[in-house]
Amino acid sequence: MLVLGTTNRKKGEELARLLAPAGVELRTLADFADGADVVEDGETFAENAAKKATEQARHLGHWVLGEDSGLAVDALGGAPGVYSARFSGPGATDESNNRLLLTRLAGVAPTDRGAGYVCQMVLADPSGAVRAESHGTCRGRILTEPRGSAGFGYDPLFELFEYHRSFGQLGPVAKAVLSHRARAARRLLPKLTALADAGALA
Ligand code: IMP
Repeated sequence: MLVLGTTNRKKGEELARLLAPAGVELRTLADFADGADVVEDGETFAENAAKKATEQARHLGHWVLGEDSGLAVDALGGAPGVYSARFSGPGATDESNNRLLLTRLAGVAPTDRGAGYVCQMVLADPSGAVRAESHGTCRGRILTEPRGSAGFGYDPLFELFEYHRSFGQLGPVAKAVLSHRARAARRLLPKLTALADAGALA
């Protein structure tokens, strides 16, 4: 069994679909009343993903996949970065974060609105030891108004260069191929499958 170390429901659903090919029984933190409240105080996605994986794995005594992700906007020097979920402060919602992003980028020309989604995954065993890591990125640009309602977070504002559509418009099938999370998952899958086949995650 593998616990997906996230409380973000939409992210958990994406992870579950992406990792299904490994043939491992997947749970999320929603299935555990006593999950640890891991403090995301790392300065990098890698630090936060490692904390989410190792601390939660030790706490629950299960295999845990820690995933930390976010949006890095070129014109904002890489912000919101690791602060993506709480960009607009305590009580932030996807809508308030998107509003703030548009405000911060007001007047910035389309050619200067480049951005990248980043995803870091860390797999920890029940002792808290790191057994695999993976990283994925996805380039695009920030629109001047939301388009589409699929996905979550910044998806209605994130346009993929090659498609001239936002993830909000493209929907789950395209996202499962092109996103930062999809790319990280594809790199993790061989290792996860090997562990599963060896009976480690039973
Ligand atoms: P985390 O749960 O601390 O890793 O925060 C992730 C945050 O980054 C989310 O709350 C979103 O704001 C943003 N984010 C990460 N991945 C995505 C995505 O696939 N689409 C849109 N926003 C994302």
